[in-house]
Amino acid sequence: MASSRSVLNFQSFTSQALSADDVQLIETSVEQFGAPLLMLDCDIIRQQYRALSNALPNVTLHFALKPLPHPAVVRTLLQEGASFDLATSGEVELVAQEGVPAERTIHTHPIKRDADIRDALAYGCHVFVVDNLNELAKFKAYNDQVELLVRLSFRNSEAFADLSKKFGCTPEQALTIIETAKEWNIHIKGLSFHVGSQTMNPQKYVEAINTCRVVMEQAVERGLPALSTLDIGGGFPVNYTKQVMPIDQFCVPINEALSLLPETVQVIAEPGRFIVAQSMMSVASVMGQAERDGQTWYYLDDGVYGSFSGLIFDDAQYPLVTLKQGDECAPSVLAGPTCDSIDVIAENIMLPKLDNGDLIIGRMMGAYTSATATDFNFFKRAQTVVFNEQVANCERMIG
Ligand SMILES: *Cc1c(COP(=O)(O)O)cnc(C)c1O
Repeated sequence: MASSRSVLNFQSFTSQALSADDVQLIETSVEQFGAPLLMLDCDIIRQQYRALSNALPNVTLHFALKPLPHPAVVRTLLQEGASFDLATSGEVELVAQEGVPAERTIHTHPIKRDADIRDALAYGCHVFVVDNLNELAKFKAYNDQVELLVRLSFRNSEAFADLSKKFGCTPEQALTIIETAKEWNIHIKGLSFHVGSQTMNPQKYVEAINTCRVVMEQAVERGLPALSTLDIGGGFPVNYTKQVMPIDQFCVPINEALSLLPETVQVIAEPGRFIVAQSMMSVASVMGQAERDGQTWYYLDDGVYGSFSGLIFDDAQYPLVTLKQGDECAPSVLAGPTCDSIDVIAENIMLPKLDNGDLIIGRMMGAYTSATATDFNFFKRAQTVVFNEQVANCERMIG
């Protein structure tokens, strides 16, 4: 669903207090649509895309749909001139529906079924990722249509998600893949990696870029075709409850490392979380309450099986705010609605006395939240209300 209101200012959500305008907008949205809600501000999508574009001036940004595959996000970024990073046929369908030109997309799932490859090719996306010979062999049938990136693995135990545990190969394996591709007449366009989601230390990128530069040199030494692309993945960090480095500062060493690449190498990235994390806030209401072991338990209509699924899947800690004013705060528990005991959002947090129907706001709820929500126990997922989308028909229903 969409709303024509356009006064939402999510900036204030990164500070402790909500502005009076925010509070009013939250309350009118709940009156109009009910709770639980996710409020999506497209202005923040634009702001984050521009901030990362400025911080990485020579890098083409392919938004990774995975953290928030929402049509309004795709439309907003399309207007901004963004490119897109797809991983599944469902994501291909979404960008196709929104009219994204296929030349602006890459498909980066390292493991694909033949149907996944065919769906992407039918749409017109022809850049794919491989990290092993079994996968490479799948492209023999399409060798005149595809360009491939070889994904390298760089482990990162500090990230929210160490994506190099499951995917990626060693530099030596990469060279074997590139050599074999030459024998099989398959075009290798370049290298890619993902240093891990919410990576706090830019040095992780620097090390990966330097290793890729060496692999590119070794490929040339072995008489293989020169590689034209380096894909530095996603992973760019945002502020949850801990402050991270501002993105300009974060990207300084990355740009330095990129400047050592041959001028012929085109650099791309696949940011997900950085673009969308700040763009949504969640609004849940208190369904009921009980006193247990000296704490007040508040049962909300959204929880870890819903919008707060990132507490389990993503390791994220979301800043939480109540609209209730009260001087006397007591240690409290915020629990989700399902009958499962794992469904607890926060324990031992100091809250004023809440009434049933009072609202709890979660900030930084844009990435890996609704995307991983379930309908467990038949609790419906929170509806997403879209703000500040620059379209002619503001009342468009999105669902
Ligand atoms: C998840 C994913 C991304 C996005 O990562 P963020 O950490 O959200 O920026 C990019 N590329 C690939 C291949 C991914 O799997």
